[in-house]
Amino acid sequence: MTVNTAEVLAKVPTGLLIDGRWVDSVSNETLDVTNPATGETLATLASASEEDARRALDAAAGVQAKWAKTPARERAEILRRAFELVTERREEFAALMTLEMGKPLSEARGEVDYGAEYLRWFSEETARQYGNAFRSPDGTTNIITRRKPVGPCLLITPWNFPLAMATRKVAPAVAAGCTMVLKSAKLTPLTAQYFAQTMMDAGLPAGVLNVVTGKSASAISGPVMSDSRLRKISFTGSTSVGKTLLKQAADNVLRTSMELGGNAPFLVFEDADLDQAVDGLMAAKMRNMGEACTAANRVLVHEDVAEEFIEKAAAKLKEFTVGNGMDESVTCGPLIEESAVENLVALVADAKDKGAEVVVGGNRLEGDGFFFEPTLITGVTPEMRVVKEEIFGPVIAIQTFSTEDEALSMANDTEYGLGSYAFTEDSDRLWRVADGLEFGLFGANVGAFSNAAAPFGGVKHSGMGREGGAEGLDEYTEVQYMCVRNPY
Ligand code: NAD
Repeated sequence: MTVNTAEVLAKVPTGLLIDGRWVDSVSNETLDVTNPATGETLATLASASEEDARRALDAAAGVQAKWAKTPARERAEILRRAFELVTERREEFAALMTLEMGKPLSEARGEVDYGAEYLRWFSEETARQYGNAFRSPDGTTNIITRRKPVGPCLLITPWNFPLAMATRKVAPAVAAGCTMVLKSAKLTPLTAQYFAQTMMDAGLPAGVLNVVTGKSASAISGPVMSDSRLRKISFTGSTSVGKTLLKQAADNVLRTSMELGGNAPFLVFEDADLDQAVDGLMAAKMRNMGEACTAANRVLVHEDVAEEFIEKAAAKLKEFTVGNGMDESVTCGPLIEESAVENLVALVADAKDKGAEVVVGGNRLEGDGFFFEPTLITGVTPEMRVVKEEIFGPVIAIQTFSTEDEALSMANDTEYGLGSYAFTEDSDRLWRVADGLEFGLFGANVGAFSNAAAPFGGVKHSGMGREGGAEGLDEYTEVQYMCVRNPY
């Protein structure tokens, strides 16, 4: 069932959310949001200035102490109601994401379910913030540990998963008792606006969540990050921006969670179930048109099965229907913007120049919107850009290997360490490969591993900290150790 587009867009607040009210920017600047499938303007929002960002932090800092004292049960129930409301509004959220980001409706619905799970998971975790109590080893004191909210947080989200990237941060912050300034991506702010309204509808008190999105990200993050009232930044986005923010965070010694870029290896061993591996590759690569930090970027296939695997993968890839994601029959939507298409054109040209062969697709699609054909290239070698960089599009780039050691060394030959995948029917090999891969996430015979109950995050230049699972709540709490004299 799809919803009426105009009716959904009319429900999205167009202002900045500051202290519980949707308000205009003091600068009166605005921001247009474009549909990447058509190039049409979907909505015009207030664009936050430096002063708006400061006002948002004023609101968050102003209610922090009171919010921290709210009983955990109360915060849990707000999250539970938010879970129910997002689920009730599933079709509206899905339509918004497809309209502003391009993903097919079926995938947008999947993201609503996945994003809502963070609200449910953390509603359940809210009351389970245990500490510890024990006698000190010398017997003179008692050691008591308690969890406290970190304090006001700046949350910055990317455009590729407009709902899930917000719920993954907002839900644990609410659970811990932190207040927030959320800055969503300017390319896809509508979903976050409607989500913030949904949090208010669920009973979140004024000032706890403030939303300021605008044309200039640094104009918003700069004044907030240098303010001593801010205590944490949680960022999801590119490694280059993450590094800039880490440097800024150092000046104010902020707690940091950094969910950055990836360059996931996808290993197919000679003993793999090839049909299962092809299905896994479609999930790991084609989800979100390949615009995912966990997207299979370097597909490494054992030379003995490469020909058969390529044939099967090419056949599957040809089944994708490219078009406007609002059309229920479409399985591959547009890319986010023109520069993303241009980047893919350049990546494929570079691979061809260096000797790769295009087996499927390889071209942009002319006409309205930002479309690129599902593409498969073979004969890929390590000096090609498709190996070194995040492809962030529907391009499968296949390399071959001959031994397990070679596969592992190729897989680890990257500065990134987020997602990784391997397909093999040999369980001993699976454990060896898990030990050998330097990545925070490992899919063993599966092409999709995201789960609100699991800790998501990377190592090396893919960042630090974890979102989801019990670990996701720790990111928003500080441990206080109380030393209590033993009276006898
Ligand atoms: P981006 O780094 O360009 O932007 C991310 C966010 O940061 C946006 O809200 C943007 O407005 C903001 N931003 C940009 N420059 C800034 C600055 N100087 N100061 C403060 N904020 C700034 O990334 P993107 O293009 O939106 O997203 C794609 C990237 O995100 C990819 O590299 C992808 O791998 C990564 N990503 C990582 C995860 C993860 O969980 N590790 C998840 C999704 C996406």
